[in-house]
Amino acid sequence: MPRAFQCPYFRRASAPRRRVNCSCGALQFPSLQGYLEHTKTYCAANPGWENCTLAQALNEEEMRREAGEKLR
Ligand code: SF4
Repeated sequence: MPRAFQCPYFRRASAPRRRVNCSCGALQFPSLQGYLEHTKTYCAANPGWENCTLAQALNEEEMRREAGEKLR
């Protein structure tokens, strides 16, 4: 059954290739189990995706960019 990805930074994923592509780049998992655990816990979880350290870094980057835009 395909996963419903929830993270707003998600772009695409391939379980056979054990890969997730999101705004931060491409994540290549060494095992299908690792891919499934990560995507279930973070990418396809709502709530849950906010706990991904990559999503947090992207959120912080967005907040910095917005703060910079307000200073102009
Ligand atoms: S949860 Fe993390 S790894 Fe998954 S799509 Fe979002 S930022 Fe990327």
